[in-house]
Amino acid sequence: MSDTDARVVLEVAGVTKTYPGVPPLTALREVSLTVAAGELVAVVGPSGSGKTTLLQVMGGLDRPSSGTVMITGLDLARLSDRQLSTLRAGRVGFVFQQFFLAEHATLLDNVADGLLYAGVPIGRRRERAAEALASVGLPDRLHVRPTQISGGQRQRVAIARALVGSPAIVLADEPTGNLDQATGQTLLTLLEELNAGGTTIVLITHDERIAARMPRRVEMLDGRIVGDAGRARISRGVYS
Ligand code: ADP
Ligand code: MG
Repeated sequence: MSDTDARVVLEVAGVTKTYPGVPPLTALREVSLTVAAGELVAVVGPSGSGKTTLLQVMGGLDRPSSGTVMITGLDLARLSDRQLSTLRAGRVGFVFQQFFLAEHATLLDNVADGLLYAGVPIGRRRERAAEALASVGLPDRLHVRPTQISGGQRQRVAIARALVGSPAIVLADEPTGNLDQATGQTLLTLLEELNAGGTTIVLITHDERIAARMPRRVEMLDGRIVGDAGRARISRGVYS
């Protein structure tokens, strides 16, 4: 592996995804995308253009029909379902529009659950969860439940859960989709701060205004990438 490869976190090459059905539906067509460590990438495109399918394939939640997906140099097609779950748990953090928090559990335990499959003992899980909640600006709400906080705060908890395992990459699918404009802006600022601290993030959005403020913008249409602006240039492992 060269120096350059060492900095590549995610590599999607020639990926096609066809959902079976009558007729079958091809949601991704020959998509190729490389994300380097430290990038903040917006994937933008209209509804139905294949953004969520791309996120699921990139993060190993679903397998492509053809083409390859590599995360930190590991070819997902070569992994068993069990190895794939381990890789997802350890190297990928997911954030979804609907938060997906357990309502009966405290914020601390919601975030600690992000380490459930990482083989970390419960005491250490809770310590790391408290650190992750502090990193998203919720240091004092450890023992309340999701029903007691706002939507913006819930999404911060979901981000803390995504970050708690120190993943190589965070994949966020329309994370501001259920938030009002002002709360969404604050959340984007948080993602920008986390990125400035070194977290690699792919942010999916259909909102052009959100994409416009991101350093790199990948544009999708009808299952294809039709634009990629602001890509990190890598030479000898150093970004310029
Ligand atoms: P986006 O997130 O950009 O709105 P999606 O990836 O959700 O796009 O969808 C892309 C296309 O694939 C759409 O036509 C959608 O209806 C179709 N699609 C998505 N998921 C499935 C599925 N599980 N089965 C069949 N078709 C699907
Ligand atoms: Mg979608």
